Amino acid sequence: MSRRPSDPEGASAGHVMRVAVDVPLRRLFDYLPPHGASAAGLCPGLRVRVPFGRGDRIGVVLQTAAIGEETHPAPKRACSLLDEAPLWSAALLSVIEWAAAYYHHPIGEVVAAALPAHLRRAVERRPETPEAYNVTDAGRAAIDRLRRRAPRQAALLAALLTHDGVLPQDALLADGRAARATLKRMAKGGLIAPAGGDTAAPGCTREAPPSLSGPQAAAVESITRQLLEFGVFLLDGVTGSGKTEVYLRVIDAVLAARRQALVLVPEIGLTAQTVRRFQARFGARVALMHSGLGDAQRSLAYEQARIGAADIVIGTRSSIWVPLARPGIIIVDEEHDQSFKQQEGFRYSARDVAVMRARRESIPVVLGSATPSLESQHNARAGRYARLHLPARVGPASLPALQIIDVRARPLQSGVSEFVLTAISETVNRGEQALVFLNRRGYAPTLLCNACGSVSMCRRCDARMTCHLRDGRLQCHHCGAQRPIPAACEQCGAAELLPLGQGTERVAELLEARFGGARVVRIDRDTTRRRGALDAALEAAHSGHASILIGTQMLAKGHHFPGVSLVAVLNADAQLYSVDLRATERLAQLLVQVAGRAGRSEKPGTVLIQTRLPEHWLFEALRQHDYAQMSRTMLEERESADLPPFSALALVRAEATTAGAPERFQQRVADTVVMEKDRARCKEVEVFGPLPAPLVRRAGHFRSQLVLQSRHRQALHRLLDAVVEQIETWPEARRVRWSLDIDPAELY
Ligand code: ADP
Ligand code: ZN
Repeated sequence: MSRRPSDPEGASAGHVMRVAVDVPLRRLFDYLPPHGASAAGLCPGLRVRVPFGRGDRIGVVLQTAAIGEETHPAPKRACSLLDEAPLWSAALLSVIEWAAAYYHHPIGEVVAAALPAHLRRAVERRPETPEAYNVTDAGRAAIDRLRRRAPRQAALLAALLTHDGVLPQDALLADGRAARATLKRMAKGGLIAPAGGDTAAPGCTREAPPSLSGPQAAAVESITRQLLEFGVFLLDGVTGSGKTEVYLRVIDAVLAARRQALVLVPEIGLTAQTVRRFQARFGARVALMHSGLGDAQRSLAYEQARIGAADIVIGTRSSIWVPLARPGIIIVDEEHDQSFKQQEGFRYSARDVAVMRARRESIPVVLGSATPSLESQHNARAGRYARLHLPARVGPASLPALQIIDVRARPLQSGVSEFVLTAISETVNRGEQALVFLNRRGYAPTLLCNACGSVSMCRRCDARMTCHLRDGRLQCHHCGAQRPIPAACEQCGAAELLPLGQGTERVAELLEARFGGARVVRIDRDTTRRRGALDAALEAAHSGHASILIGTQMLAKGHHFPGVSLVAVLNADAQLYSVDLRATERLAQLLVQVAGRAGRSEKPGTVLIQTRLPEHWLFEALRQHDYAQMSRTMLEERESADLPPFSALALVRAEATTAGAPERFQQRVADTVVMEKDRARCKEVEVFGPLPAPLVRRAGHFRSQLVLQSRHRQALHRLLDAVVEQIETWPEARRVRWSLDIDPAELY
């Protein structure tokens, strides 16, 4: 290989770097190393600035290759390397590459998804690591007292508390040196502790742990027996059975081995209690990663994890990409939760990536849930996952009594039966709390004209507008479009407009009228949009200030409300009529989880479920608290229909502003699949569609879908490789928006 005369650096002269760039193309781009880079310094995982199109971009080197026939004939030269050491271990890098291949997604977009914002931006220097401290319990207790005696200390404590422990820059600006001196004094006085710098011996905990129940001890023992090797554990434990305590003990052992733990949770706001338990047990060694944090805080947590300064990282879906200096275990709490599946762009399942990551990093992974997904249960039955069972609640708490209320031919007020209203009244009179669950926000899902019978529709979707009375607006829950509630019918001009059906806002109105407004707290996306509003609502629930909680599925997740003894589910039926693949599974999980909110302390709990389908098998199993039985029935249904987990699915979505275009595109995809099937002789893949999407028009786009199904996952993926490669060359692939969803969570 000849050395290029224009390249004075002998060492790297004969090589190109293959770089992932954040563009929707399924390929890498070849570049010559920047001037001055040595071949030894060119390793996968380095960020590099490269000329691209008319500007430049930040990419990540994934491979290096000797210049030859396979490389670009005239590669451009990269501008500069941005890192001295690779961002990822070889294991994590291999997971990223696996994910791009498995999800058939453009590698540059996958790499971008794995990078936090501060590493994606075009700054060459990493941002300065901000200072971070954790406020100790003593600090929290002292804040009021300090306000008068030492206002500067009180102000710094308040600033730390509202910024999750990261010192905002402006807190130091006024008089940085004095503030630093104050911080030092506060640290000495035990009011704050430097985050990540916790020097407590591993295994030394702050809050005395309870002694474990038999099943808990057995679970901890199984997991810790093989801490340094790959294994998947399905921790299947009813709500309140002490799963979190199992995580805490296992992490104790992981920390004692000087390793780190990565904990994935569905949504930090909703799992604040769980997070606080981790913090109470492990203090400053915990770093949080979620979208509610500012960039500075997120980058701090990321860097702490990467250099090993934080021992425990707790985060939502995208935290699965956070590098760990000393990986020890991955825990996925509420592994069945939908939020682990990214629903747009790079549609990965963080749970499934977690399993692959654990395998590549040779560490255990624990999937925990009271309602494990059918996929995970199937894997446990097949012996791929070890099932650890916690069959009963710990302590005095017993599972609630469950009653099905047949509401056919019963008068309802705003969707609530008199039976339920009476039960709420009795509960409140006993000084206990009631939780009312309705999976629909807004006032009413339909606004009907009583004169002409027309219904207010979204102008961009085939969907009804939801009426939000308090805001005075109609809202589309599919595309977010809004308009004021009209004074008269938009079709005939009559003024007789009726809100039909009910959402949480309407039920809250009924409950407030009946029980006094001060005692009712509504918790849904609308009431918790403002920063801090969710915390305030949860606080009212916990303190007992609110007697009645009404809300959507936000209420079903992970909360432990000790005062709640009654749970009422208003409309469970909608999902039983749904055609979606996972509708029944989701409903079963939701009902078991909501029911789990009742009677979690000494007070016995009751769950009332209103339905017009009282004979449905789901309710009988629910009454027995037998999620395992529900799962068996659902798995049988899936098996007879050849649906996941008994087959693998891939969904091709397409949408365009002209009707018919998505179908034409997908027909060509379907034809190509059939052709490739014959060519590659893989008969095992079936094609369904193109079919119109359940919501044909959404946000002004016409949508259709094509389903590919196979009992042989590998055959499906081989076929997709060949088909996707062809699609990318089609001109019409640029006229529709198309995407591929592997293991889709829902079929629309
Ligand atoms: P899960 O995560 O399964 O819902 P938790 O871990 O939150 O259950 O436990 C429920 C409650 O029981 C918590 O208040 C927890 O502190 C308590 N708890 C857990 N394990 C024990 C134990 N072994 N002894 C006493 N209390 C426990
Ligand atoms: Zn809409």
